[in-house]
Amino acid sequence: MAAPIHFDVLVIGSGASGLAAAVAAERKGARVALATKGSLQSCNSAKAQGGIQAAFGDDDSPELHADDVWRSSHETADRRLVDVLTTEATDAIHWLEELGVQFTRDNGGYRLARCGGASRKRLLQVGDRTGHAITTALRDAVEASSTETLPKSPLRSLERTASGWRARCGEHELEAAAVVLAAGGRCYREAEERGELSTNHPGATGEVTRIALDLGAEARDLDALQYHPNGGAWPSNMQGYSIPETTRAYGAVLLNADGEEFTDSLGPRDQVSQAIFDEVAKGKGVETPDGRPAVALDTTRIAEEDAEISLPYMLRRYRAAGIDPLKERILTYPVLHYQNGGLVIGTDAETTLEGLFACGEIAGGTHGRNRMMGNSLLECCVFGRRAGRAAAEKAK
Ligand SMILES: Cc1cc2nc3c(=O)[nH]c(=O)nc-3n(C[C@H](O)[C@H](O)[C@H](O)COP(=O)(O)OP(=O)(O)OC[C@H]3O[C@@H](n4cnc5c(N)ncnc54)[C@H](O)[C@@H]3O)c2cc1C
Repeated sequence: MAAPIHFDVLVIGSGASGLAAAVAAERKGARVALATKGSLQSCNSAKAQGGIQAAFGDDDSPELHADDVWRSSHETADRRLVDVLTTEATDAIHWLEELGVQFTRDNGGYRLARCGGASRKRLLQVGDRTGHAITTALRDAVEASSTETLPKSPLRSLERTASGWRARCGEHELEAAAVVLAAGGRCYREAEERGELSTNHPGATGEVTRIALDLGAEARDLDALQYHPNGGAWPSNMQGYSIPETTRAYGAVLLNADGEEFTDSLGPRDQVSQAIFDEVAKGKGVETPDGRPAVALDTTRIAEEDAEISLPYMLRRYRAAGIDPLKERILTYPVLHYQNGGLVIGTDAETTLEGLFACGEIAGGTHGRNRMMGNSLLECCVFGRRAGRAAAEKAK
């Protein structure tokens, strides 16, 4: 093994949070390395379809956004983190725009949708490939900067040194004054162990959280895993696909076998998922042709114009599979999706260990035990930037 290479800041992971942290740290003048498990493109962030929340509506405010997060979390979120998240949301959107993200617009303003648990229309979108657009812009910024990118270099070990941290990432031995953990959640591994479907990419396996815990970092709510209410249930090649929540924002409703609405389709995620589980348990579900449990999502109620502007990818996927969601209902069932909890952080994204930062899905507190849709991409940008800036500051 070659002698360690020295950096000011080492970022682990190339999802939205890691990319945002790397951009922010480099812009603060730090020498940055970003090591990731697979390719730079491989992450959950790029799969995000629905959108990102920010209070741009005339009738909206960061305070109302914060109240919705607090209520949806069943009053378990960390209020300080929630206030940062919602107060910096509009600034994060403008930052993304400077980097090249073009949010879908309507009548001169942003096209805003209402997502589950929200009291206002607050969800910005880039069609239904929002995560792809955000990660592409962030990755372009990283690749155009002086940041050293190390794909296929999974973090294997991390230890303290007198001046910071030493990390083994694949074949590389790296030293840095500060480290930002942005390695995402663990729902892919968890689903495999449970024999269930997951929306996650195969790199979402959680070993970096384990490394941090072994070093003594504190965590919270790690047991609180989120089911996306609308996993695709049929046809078989759509199983595990997350049907965007924006289908429901634009009018789709959940129906049981008798064609009855059995829940508020735009309730908080955990309540909607539980209502589907309960309906199926009562015998009021619909079985898929391969014998899986499901209920119907009546997507025929979505106006064609809304679908074409905000759901083109979903339409393409289903139509290619032989189903037109604007002409027939689709079958859905909850699917393992998101790790609500994670490493405890402060408002600058520092964990309980000095010089070790965490942002994105690996961190806990911002969503408490139940995340609202559209707040994860936001968290990646707001706390990714904060982590990058604070890590660069620490390295000085
Ligand atoms: C299908 C889908 C749809 C979604 N839709 C939305 C949405 O519309 N709005 C929203 O706000 N949120 C959405 N989410 C949630 C959101 O996209 C993610 O929670 C968020 O983007 C996570 O970002 P992250 O940077 O924390 O992690 P990720 O994007 O998962 O990135 C983690 C990175 O760490 C790397 N990594 C993992 N282990 C290691 C290791 N040992 N060493 C080095 N690198 C490692 C991974 O390879 C990856 O590059 C969706 C998620 C999915 C899966």
